[in-house]
Amino acid sequence: MSGLLPLFLSTDPKQRLRIQRSLLAASVFIACIALQVYACWAGLMARSEAETLSGLIVANVVFWYALLRSGLNLRCRDPALTLPQIIAALTIIVGAYATTGAAHGAVMMLLTLVLVFGIFNLKPRAARFASTYTVVAMGVAILYKIQTDPANYPLRLEVVHFALVIAIVPTVSSLAAQLSSLRARLQTQKNELAHALTRIQILATRDELTGLVNRRHMIEVINQHQKRLQRSGHHRFCLALLDIDHFKRINDTHGHNVGDEVLRHFAQVAQQALRETDVLARWGGEEFLVLLNDTMPEQAEAGIERIREAMADAQVAPSVPELRLTFSAGLTAYADDEPLDHCVERADRALYQAKAAGRNRTVLHAATPRLAAPRQTATER
Ligand code: GH3
Ligand code: MG
Ligand code: MG
Repeated sequence: MSGLLPLFLSTDPKQRLRIQRSLLAASVFIACIALQVYACWAGLMARSEAETLSGLIVANVVFWYALLRSGLNLRCRDPALTLPQIIAALTIIVGAYATTGAAHGAVMMLLTLVLVFGIFNLKPRAARFASTYTVVAMGVAILYKIQTDPANYPLRLEVVHFALVIAIVPTVSSLAAQLSSLRARLQTQKNELAHALTRIQILATRDELTGLVNRRHMIEVINQHQKRLQRSGHHRFCLALLDIDHFKRINDTHGHNVGDEVLRHFAQVAQQALRETDVLARWGGEEFLVLLNDTMPEQAEAGIERIREAMADAQVAPSVPELRLTFSAGLTAYADDEPLDHCVERADRALYQAKAAGRNRTVLHAATPRLAAPRQTATER
């Protein structure tokens, strides 16, 4: 939207829709003013009454527009102000019914038009209220006019009008109510679907026990990093396979539940020791794969050693406070354009060497190029 329109209708899409709806109703009212001019000219309506009614219509339109455009409506429970706008409109129409003399029969159509506007937003209770209000207000107006102006409002005709009001108005508002509950049901279903989708996404990408990225999603994450490396030529990364030492013993000695507890805490401690940009995944059982981003092997090794230090002090099973964990790690750098399983295989071979050399250490795969001066790759604590 450009020009003056945003100024006139607001830039907030929801407010714009509310104002547009209010102005659509207003356009019907403005047409009513034109009809009143005609009714005066044709001698169907007194000029003074037409002026009062038209003034009321204009004031009503300006009032709702000002309220919506100023944003004061946002403080209300229903910012669309549907019920108040409908009640005001119904009041004016009942007033028009009582002042349009011989032409009043045509005004009745407007009652249903106003209630139709409620379809957009009225809750069933509010729709029932609007309908009852219409029937009562019309009843009072008709009774009053039968007595004060029987020439234009003869009893035998007004009985028919009132019967129509009783038959049509509640039907229209009941349809509005049904549509409103249908909309509410659809909204609930939409929310449930969104919730289910989030849940499915979590289930599909996360490991249930540890909450870490699962194996399937980790493969996708690494694939994205491979593509990024291909495109940019930098953003090199390393992969490390971590395996808890003698984990079977923990299960055998303390039970499977403690084993699970240990896996959860291992995941937490390792995650906290890593950089935010590194990704830790549960690769299977008590094996974890770490993607160390934008990292050369030396820095990657330091990253894994940070986990080792954190793990040495960590209480990994609150139910067995004295239990401490060590792990072995095989580390390698991803080589340009190689398939992922080649890289993981290298990390696995290095892990095997770490286990064979006595566990609780990191082995950098021999084929991994080093940048800094060579130093002891296996770090024993
Ligand atoms: P090593 O130092 O050589 O790695 O010895 P380990 O005992 O850790 O290795 P091993 O592969 O013999 O045993 C791994 C154990 O991990 C066996 C399996 O029952 C257990 N395990 C795998 N997944 C889970 C799990 O989700 N929860 C629990 N509690 N245990 C698991
Ligand atoms: Mg294992
Ligand atoms: Mg193990």
